[in-house]
Amino acid sequence: MLTLEGIDAFYGDLQALYDVSLDVPEGKIFALVGANAAGKSTTLRVLSGLVAPRRGHVRFEGKDLAPVPAHRRVDLGIVQVPEGRRLFPFMTVTENLLLGGHGARARGGGPAERLDYVYTLFPVLQERATQLAGSLSGGEQQMCAIGRALMARPRVLMLDEPTLGLAPVLVRRIFDTVRTINADGMTVLLVEQNVRQALTIADHAAVLESGRLVLSGRGPELLGDDRLKRAYLGL
Ligand code: ATP
Repeated sequence: MLTLEGIDAFYGDLQALYDVSLDVPEGKIFALVGANAAGKSTTLRVLSGLVAPRRGHVRFEGKDLAPVPAHRRVDLGIVQVPEGRRLFPFMTVTENLLLGGHGARARGGGPAERLDYVYTLFPVLQERATQLAGSLSGGEQQMCAIGRALMARPRVLMLDEPTLGLAPVLVRRIFDTVRTINADGMTVLLVEQNVRQALTIADHAAVLESGRLVLSGRGPELLGDDRLKRAYLGL
């Protein structure tokens, strides 16, 4: 559904991705894992159109996305939950959620039924609807960031380290939510440092190491692979 072919990506002179190819199949959970600075966020930015690759192709259902800017990719249903949540702290929970509805409007959907979906998934957001997003707890903020992305009615939801800094009980909650979202028909691309949990729920997975894809396969099968340990521990 969403593919990268031979991507090289740079920040100025610094090369962050080397010849990265991957294929996110429709309806599945794809986990992208790797140590710090491996290039995971850069991979998502290339997919969402925030970083233009210097070489290679990005395709969505076969269509070359090179001429499609980031906001139009959201309209197509390619939606990213950024690392660090990036909420608007001085706006309410509901205002943050409604801002995410842009892509859904472009494809003919209304915000009311999407809000219902988000509030059913995260009832705490309905309880906090009029609270400023900046005053939510870390876990609630992550739910709000995921909810905001869901307002766009994604076809592919890309989550960048959604469990970073959360207590174990909330980490489990976020992974359960990812499964629910996927069961509701959304394709998920999950970037994670909680490798064990990510690979356990992933249909497919790939491991990035220093900007290169070093390993890919079915999620649970990668768990026991020595190359996975090497990518993390440098052994
Ligand atoms: P982490 O798990 O720590 O978030 P990551 O795997 O997501 O890491 P990236 O954020 O993609 O890694 O970074 C890959 C490389 O690109 C790193 O060496 C990083 O320093 C560099 N990099 C990332 N963003 C920028 C930027 N805006 N400007 C310059 N260099 C950058």
